Amino acid sequence: MKESPIVIVGSGLAGLTCAWAATEPCVLVTAESLTSGAASMWAQGGVAAALAPNDSTQDHADDTWRAGALAGDRAVIDRITGVAPEIVRLLTELDVPFDRAADGSLDLALEGGHRRPRVAHAGDHSGAAITACMASAVLHSPTVDVRENQSLVEILADDHGAVRGVLVRRTDGTTETIETSRVVLATGGLGGLWGHTTNPTTALGQGVALAARIGARTDDLHLVQFHPTALDVPRDPLPLLTEALRGAGAKLLADGSRFVEELQPRDVVAAAVWEQLGAGRKVRLDAREIPDVTSRFPAVAAIAEGCGLDLATDLLPVRPALHYSMGGLTVDQHSRTSVPGLWAIGEVSRTGLHGANRLASNSLLEAVVTGRAAAQDACGPLPGAWAENLPQVDPATVLPRNDIATLSVQDVRALLSSACGVLRDGATLERAVERLAPHTGEDVPYVAWLIARSALAHPHSIGAHRRTDDVHARNTDRTETHQGATA
Ligand SMILES: Cc1cc2nc3c(=O)[nH]c(=O)nc-3n(C[C@H](O)[C@H](O)[C@H](O)COP(=O)(O)OP(=O)(O)OC[C@H]3O[C@@H](n4cnc5c(N)ncnc54)[C@H](O)[C@@H]3O)c2cc1C
Repeated sequence: MKESPIVIVGSGLAGLTCAWAATEPCVLVTAESLTSGAASMWAQGGVAAALAPNDSTQDHADDTWRAGALAGDRAVIDRITGVAPEIVRLLTELDVPFDRAADGSLDLALEGGHRRPRVAHAGDHSGAAITACMASAVLHSPTVDVRENQSLVEILADDHGAVRGVLVRRTDGTTETIETSRVVLATGGLGGLWGHTTNPTTALGQGVALAARIGARTDDLHLVQFHPTALDVPRDPLPLLTEALRGAGAKLLADGSRFVEELQPRDVVAAAVWEQLGAGRKVRLDAREIPDVTSRFPAVAAIAEGCGLDLATDLLPVRPALHYSMGGLTVDQHSRTSVPGLWAIGEVSRTGLHGANRLASNSLLEAVVTGRAAAQDACGPLPGAWAENLPQVDPATVLPRNDIATLSVQDVRALLSSACGVLRDGATLERAVERLAPHTGEDVPYVAWLIARSALAHPHSIGAHRRTDDVHARNTDRTETHQGATA
């Protein structure tokens, strides 16, 4: 079946990169119009790469490893951070308008957890700038058939468990089966499953659900990152106040006093903010001392203004919000999942790069690297042995779909928010698993069940969350990283 087109699902940076890099005909299916509903468009910071003269890919790898609470896959970290400078050059050749210093070199920003200024950015709208350039390249490609407003609703497998096609549903409700032996999932994250999120509310982890139902292995689904500084206003999703603000000198205040070193890794800052809120204090971000803050951060200034706040003169109310999923569909270096013919790229995948906590601006990088790897692999000769180094799937997690629709998305969001927050405990998680179990025939509760089940099975504080019932809590103070970051 190699002659059938490759089907790529999702038009964020990962899916677009895969379509652009594919040397064979492919169909790009996406739920809305091209790039809509993609978190890639919302990224403010940029792409991390060791490009400064005093930097090295080894240092980038070490920072990634350390931010991930030493839980990442070191070989993957070395490989992906190692190609990061090449990825920024590639994006530059695609005309991404990265900001430049006066001498023409890239203007690299400092973000939390990085020891050096390392983030190539296009103002504070980097994701939109990068994704738009990649989308333009895809639209000019003669080998890509773009199908907008079509959602993947089922991945079809043959009797041997290999991919044989996909079922897509158009917005008018009609469906179509596309036969293919090669499917690349680029459906993004699952932050919309939490009550407070910075993700598109459509980011409900459907790629995880559809792949898990045909036997794809998942790992680390309980490892989710909370951004410490979402703007706490009555909006859904919550607007993000980029970490670059703290990199530029913004301070966090609880009832007017500083309580945390702002450039520590996200989990440390998020836990500190969560604790302050839990103690009934009001937490605010003070960006007033940043010179020219409004012109340096025009997108953030516009967000604040839209909420009736002035970045240059007001204190901004903040709270942690679900921001990124470190776990997902387990993949190897070619982006292959455990299901023959199924690749996963970008945030829906679990590569091992992020460990228990993603380092800022490493995920756009991962989207490009994994998207390109999947394209190269899917366009090459298909191997006899498939992803042989991946561990087997736990059969207890492979559950069929049924038509019992009884739990609303709002109910699921409330459940996960209370059970799987920055602070969590076994008893609450156990109740959440029990509550979700009867509803796994539906995709949204199914993914939530996989997440809660994974959290219950890992009873330790690590990376992005703290188990309040973990008697052997690990020391998560990584001040050394912070000192480097501010040096
Ligand atoms: C506010 C915000 C700021 C961020 N800032 C940064 C940053 O500065 N640097 C950084 O590295 N990372 C950042 N991130 C994270 C980063 O944006 C994401 O991890 C990355 O863009 C994910 O890319 P992706 O292509 O995997 O998924 P996405 O960009 O989310 O794209 C997913 C695509 O899949 C489609 N889709 C989903 N389900 C289906 C379906 N069933 N059928 C068809 N299509 C489907 C969606 O419509 C969308 O087109 C940020 C994230 C957010 C939310």
